[in-house]
Amino acid sequence: MFSPRLVLFEKGALDYELGKYIYNRFKNDSNVEIIKLSSNKIISSIPGENMYEKYRAGKKTLVVGVKKSLKFQSCKPSAHYQLPLVTGCMGQCEYCYLNTQLGNKPFVRVYANIDEILNQAKKYIQARSPEITIFEGSATSDPIPVEPYTNSLKTCIEYFAGEQLAKFRFVTKYNDIDSLLQVNHNSHTEIRFSLNTYSIINEYEHFTASAHKRIEAAAKLARHGYPIGFIIAPVFIYENWKEEYRKLIDMLHKTLPQDLKVPIGFEVISHRFTTKAKNTILEIFPETTLPMKEEERKFKYGQFGYGKYIYPNEQLQEIKNFFKEELSDKFKDAHIKYII
Ligand code: SF4
Repeated sequence: MFSPRLVLFEKGALDYELGKYIYNRFKNDSNVEIIKLSSNKIISSIPGENMYEKYRAGKKTLVVGVKKSLKFQSCKPSAHYQLPLVTGCMGQCEYCYLNTQLGNKPFVRVYANIDEILNQAKKYIQARSPEITIFEGSATSDPIPVEPYTNSLKTCIEYFAGEQLAKFRFVTKYNDIDSLLQVNHNSHTEIRFSLNTYSIINEYEHFTASAHKRIEAAAKLARHGYPIGFIIAPVFIYENWKEEYRKLIDMLHKTLPQDLKVPIGFEVISHRFTTKAKNTILEIFPETTLPMKEEERKFKYGQFGYGKYIYPNEQLQEIKNFFKEELSDKFKDAHIKYII
């Protein structure tokens, strides 16, 4: 669970029930400084001289805001729209895509006007009717660590349970999901867990839950009827990588219930980096041991116009063969969506 040191309320946030609720949660906590902003200049309220310091201070800062633009971003290919509930994350994963996406906004922001956000979702659902509309709740965040303060996921899961033409999904690296177990989800929400080996989590995914805890959380949700899925990412080739990923898949197999009604979805993504991401990572984590040597990778132009460094064909093929074999061996009904 997220324990912020600084909580900032943007103008208007305290007019909403959720804003007031969060304020009351922290107002008597002597470890937390509260600032009510009269303007929305958040970044100048966060201490730190440079990106390295701002990043660390930002990761301990919770901003309670109001989502003003209710034009949802598209979220291809995994969903139709991003559902804006939270941006940022308390985790400090060295390869997190948010480092480049939200580099100048490293804080965690939650939106207090959840009802307005869901009313807008309704309009998008109606516009696409009779097609199903899928909303992604974690496009720019990990929403689980702030759930104890907002209950926004609970509200959304209940809301989407009643929408026949909509589905909701999100992904997490955390295990604090107990408050979601008894929620009526009507199988309309899919909860995915991002996984990696012990060595990779230990080395690069600071302040996240262990793989074991994530898998146990997935098992609990599955027992409560939620569709679940796993993103194994980013996959690295290193000494003993096959043994370690095999161990991870074994742990999954042993921990998950065997009688799941919905097949488990798997997505496997090999490690890649862009020049921009590498530069940002080196600023925030100057001591990083992340393998980012361009000469060891293949350069590939991405669909969004910038290039990325991926594993060379032969290694990529080895990754594909390995995961296809291991996953289909352990999970006969697995739905392997892609291995890239
Ligand atoms: Fe980024 Fe996810 Fe790690 Fe948070 S848990 S820092 S969103 S990769």
